Amino acid sequence: MKKPLDFSSLNDFKDEIHEACGVFGISNQDGFDTAQMTYFGLYALQHRGQESCGIAINNNCEITGHKGIGLVPEVFTEKILDRLEGNMAIGHTRYSTTGGSSVENCQPLIFTYKGGKMALAHNGNLINATKIRYELENKGAIFQTSTDSEVIANLISRNGLKCNDIVEVLTRTMDVIEGAYALVILTQKKLVGIRDPWGLRPLCLGKIGRSYVLASENCAFDVVGAEFIRDIEPGEMVIIEGESLTSIKTKHNKPHRFCIFEHIYFARPDSFIDGASIYKSRLEAGRLLAIESPVEADLVVGVPDSGITAAIGYSRQSGIPYGEALIKNRYVGRTFIQPNQQLREQSVRIKLNALYEEIEGKRIIIIDDSIVRGTTSYKIIQMLKNAGAKEVHMRISSPPVLNPCYFGIDISSKEHLIAANYSIEEIRESINADTLAFLSVESLLKTPIGAPANCFCTGCFTGEYPMKVPMHVGKSILDKKC
Ligand code: SF4
Repeated sequence: MKKPLDFSSLNDFKDEIHEACGVFGISNQDGFDTAQMTYFGLYALQHRGQESCGIAINNNCEITGHKGIGLVPEVFTEKILDRLEGNMAIGHTRYSTTGGSSVENCQPLIFTYKGGKMALAHNGNLINATKIRYELENKGAIFQTSTDSEVIANLISRNGLKCNDIVEVLTRTMDVIEGAYALVILTQKKLVGIRDPWGLRPLCLGKIGRSYVLASENCAFDVVGAEFIRDIEPGEMVIIEGESLTSIKTKHNKPHRFCIFEHIYFARPDSFIDGASIYKSRLEAGRLLAIESPVEADLVVGVPDSGITAAIGYSRQSGIPYGEALIKNRYVGRTFIQPNQQLREQSVRIKLNALYEEIEGKRIIIIDDSIVRGTTSYKIIQMLKNAGAKEVHMRISSPPVLNPCYFGIDISSKEHLIAANYSIEEIRESINADTLAFLSVESLLKTPIGAPANCFCTGCFTGEYPMKVPMHVGKSILDKKC
């Protein structure tokens, strides 16, 4: 018999899915303050990872850096930034699963190999890291971190023994690694950007003056005044040296399978990825949800922040007014910044509050981007009902999450996914909603306007992953989600 769900003792809001990581790189040819530019770039990518961050900088072929646990402005003081001098840099904001948040796992990784010093920052998750690490350890390799990114660094170092050409070294590395990776790499002379063969994680190219910039999302370009040039293509490697850029379309390109969850939740609404606006995708998801799952109500409300755009789309389509009913304290960071459960619970109490005068006596449609464990939805519906809502109808702007993610997003194993274990009616009952409906997969694929429907990974909804995932993936300490 199924264990009944009991959310009554849970206090956490929006702790269900955590971000991927953010990467940034700059080859400064215009006399900017390289460290400051990287700092601002990372600030714009803070939403992708809030646990730790770091910058590696190249000053006349000498690569140094600074990294630490905390948000970008916490890790980088003015004094630290002043110390970081150079004309090329890469940066990283990181989220990891529990146990992976130690300082040694922070990025960029700086290492020395036969070709000199190198720094590497990685967004994504390799699915064969455990196997490669095991093989390398058997050949005498030592590791200082538990990240799959260090496996990449180790392969680069080994391939560097066989050849001197950096393109060949990196191509040989791509021959071996499998999974999701958007990489920015700093060598003694070059800045390199690589996107995995499926294009699972985002990476784009910008320019300011004569200086090239790389970033996970183009919202980081606006912050440093750079102009968006284009997305790095799946399987593409760009080598930036001084003012010149060389694009290498490696043999490693597969059918494009970009992570659809970036559109639903991770990416910032002011970003465009692979030609599609994140804001418009969310608006369209709300519009299609209103067509698929209409309900009579007085007010449409979005769960701050990621449910708001879809709620506006739902309201426009249905004609039901959009309103604010949940007020977020903007000065509280996301709940998972404190990995300690006790601290997390304290922060939750000041994070969201109900606007009684908007809610009392009304039939409310509450829109959220996803339900993973169900704890968030339960608490929010409780809050609305305690504030006097007559009815609460929950609408989700994505399909039920039925499967884990193996490509760098912290969507946990099947046993923790409420939709993988309970029917929609059982979930509705458990979260105490009057009605509950999800967006269909067919509609979801129509939401990134301008992008072809078959260019997305939908693995966590459909179980159809772009590549075969080895059985052990998801059980290893190496499976840090970054
Ligand atoms: S499984 Fe889901 S979260 Fe993971 S890459 Fe695919 S769409 Fe994104």
